[in-house]
Amino acid sequence: MDKNFKLLINGQLVSGDMSMPVINPATGAEFAQSPRASQKQLDEAVRAAKAAFPAWSLRPIGERRELLLSLASEMERRAPEFAALLTKEQGKPSNQAMFECLGCAYIARGISQFTIESSVLQDDETKRVVEYRQPLGVVAAITPWNFPLILLFNKLAPALLAGNTLVIKPAPTTPLTSLLLGEVCADIFPRGVVNVIADANDLGAALTQHPDVAKIAFTGSTATGMKVMSSAASGIKRVTLELGGNDAALVLEDADVAETARKVFDGAMLNAGQICVAIKRVYVPDEMYDAFCAELARLAIEMVVGDGDAPATQLGPIQNRAQFEKLCDLLAVSRREGNVIAGGEPLARAGYFIPPTIVRDIPDSAEIVQEEQFGPILPVLKYSDVSDAIRRINESKYGLGATVWGKSVARAEAVALCIDSGSIWVNKHMDIAPNLPFRGFKQSGLGAELGQAGLDEYTQAKVVNVARG
Ligand code: ADP
Repeated sequence: MDKNFKLLINGQLVSGDMSMPVINPATGAEFAQSPRASQKQLDEAVRAAKAAFPAWSLRPIGERRELLLSLASEMERRAPEFAALLTKEQGKPSNQAMFECLGCAYIARGISQFTIESSVLQDDETKRVVEYRQPLGVVAAITPWNFPLILLFNKLAPALLAGNTLVIKPAPTTPLTSLLLGEVCADIFPRGVVNVIADANDLGAALTQHPDVAKIAFTGSTATGMKVMSSAASGIKRVTLELGGNDAALVLEDADVAETARKVFDGAMLNAGQICVAIKRVYVPDEMYDAFCAELARLAIEMVVGDGDAPATQLGPIQNRAQFEKLCDLLAVSRREGNVIAGGEPLARAGYFIPPTIVRDIPDSAEIVQEEQFGPILPVLKYSDVSDAIRRINESKYGLGATVWGKSVARAEAVALCIDSGSIWVNKHMDIAPNLPFRGFKQSGLGAELGQAGLDEYTQAKVVNVARG
């Protein structure tokens, strides 16, 4: 690729002190070079964000909102360009890449509708007490490689609307779309308000420990989330952590087999299963088990796997070699401990391709059931008593999302409430919207993203208490 990508530091598009290759996961070959920031450039980015903070935080929220809306418009205008680059570096099919890019504008517009208000807590003859909310300062936004853009917008939009400044650090295998976003931001926001750096997985600790970073907004694995939280401890920094999940789909006896299997399948395979809230295990009643498994296998065999650039592709490659190798190991576990009825072997071609795989007759103790696979391998588990299925679902250390499927909505809703997750969808999957707070239970996260609650996470409440009389 000819394009010369740059970091954005203090309003300037600059070369990295180093560079690094970016791999197209559909070929396994390098297709572009990315700038790579040094520790010195990281410090410059934080310094620029700190210097930009006073003026940006004092601007009326209406002005910040207007600039955010300009960014939303630019994302819409340039969505085809962003989507093509996203498919190249991330691997997802073009239509899903386009959906992600337009989703960024949707998030920015949705968050823009919120406001930050002070509230009067008490006002009488003894005292007047007002709670104000003010921005925090420099926010470090650290993002993963599965949805490099939209997960960034979940952080960027509320951080900027609330009056914070940003240092953005994408994952090392998907830096380019964030760097392109930096180019767009350079033309919209004042100098230093948005900074974008890229690393080779070596600057995360320095960024999270930096004394001038007030808050860390992180999406990634639970293991890395733990490191982020301990880095934050030194300065009692604010954190929001959106971490792993092992989301269960619970199919009730009155669910329609064909329709539910199709929706569960889509919820497991979208983005090649590389979604924190992808369906990662499905619990099916005894009497429906064979028919449900057969339907899932039929859908898996029909699915078109290939390069995200090819128009017919429904399932793209795994984003990076490390994740691909982890999934190859989980395929071996699935073959050994269960009964694989579709897929089961990596594709014998260049790139990191795992076909949609359905595994039945597998015990709860198998690694593919216990751990987050983050790939297109779906274990199907049998149950005879729904309360026992709920118990098995809740044994997980994770609690991000879950789905419940059944014709009696009242019953499905009652069952949904028994599942220990931040979001539980009934008869649908992954309805994430800017007005709905998204959170993780247990080791799936801390704090909220999106919604008013998500915006409030980018502010500090101050209570001013005035004597009367
Ligand atoms: P994976 O394990 O799938 O590669 P991670 O959760 O480690 O994903 O990565 C998510 C993001 O966290 C990436 O941007 C990565 O560079 C960053 N990161 C990795 N290590 C650290 C760390 N110690 N502190 C902060 N961020 C980190």
